[in-house]
Amino acid sequence: MKRGLLDIESLRREEIEAILARSKDFQPAPGQTFKRFDTLRGRTVVNLFFEASTRTRTSFEIAAKRLGADIVSITAAGSSVTKGESLVDTLNTLGAMRPDAIVMRHAASGAPHFLSRYLPVPIVNAGDGTHEHPTQALLDARTILDRRGSLEGLRIAIIGDIAHSRVARSNIFLLSKFGVQVVLCGPASLLPRELGRLAPGVTLTTHMETALRDVDVIMMLRVQLERQHEAAFPASEYFRFYGLRPDHIQLSKPDAVVLHPGPINRGREISSEVADSQRSAILNQVENGIAVRMAVLEAVLAA
Ligand code: ASP
Repeated sequence: MKRGLLDIESLRREEIEAILARSKDFQPAPGQTFKRFDTLRGRTVVNLFFEASTRTRTSFEIAAKRLGADIVSITAAGSSVTKGESLVDTLNTLGAMRPDAIVMRHAASGAPHFLSRYLPVPIVNAGDGTHEHPTQALLDARTILDRRGSLEGLRIAIIGDIAHSRVARSNIFLLSKFGVQVVLCGPASLLPRELGRLAPGVTLTTHMETALRDVDVIMMLRVQLERQHEAAFPASEYFRFYGLRPDHIQLSKPDAVVLHPGPINRGREISSEVADSQRSAILNQVENGIAVRMAVLEAVLAA
């Protein structure tokens, strides 16, 4: 991965397996914090975020520091982007400072792919528009593996604003490479039919009850109002039809795991009872985000 990590779609199953296996070495023992390593001492990572982030930005920072690298975080609001500088000029400027990698989040789908053709610096995609969020899918897979041991043959429902979700796309690509049956569910206006053709084993439904029946994993998504240019559904009705409540959990497998990439909106897509229940692995996902990003940075940067 010397050239960076742009998406899950173009990764081979073995490459994904290698990152997931390595991330296990970085997971802290119960009650412990993440260990410090020296692997990336002397390396510099630039964390460039043109969109809001809490989890992803912080966890790339912690991951880089735990490996001994220096990391500089820049957000669009505090950069010369607000003075009218183009994306290419911003990236060329940062590239001239010779970082060893750039971690980047941008609202335009494909922005990191475009830039990687021009910049000699490896780019790690931390979310590009509605396209992909590769490290999210990797940390989701790590979390599922921790609970289930294997992905093969699982049935996983992804529920919510599928249309605007880069998390859903990266997960579809990853999970289908491992023989998972993926059920996509949401209001018809947020459930593009073409996603059913994205990978083998993907089905679509607008009914929560159908999606949840006998699933091993329930992956809830936030309603991404910032990407919706017109109302796709009546906001007051959303929770009634697509919010995850305790009674829904009965339909899934008895030990089904609930995931959510965050930020969660309690009472909109998930009830507090479920979010805070034993079934919820939401905070495990956050913790695994660090271990997985350490594995990714190591694969991208280690000489
Ligand atoms: N944090 C995830 C993302 O950046 C999911 C979300 O924002 O709803 O795509």
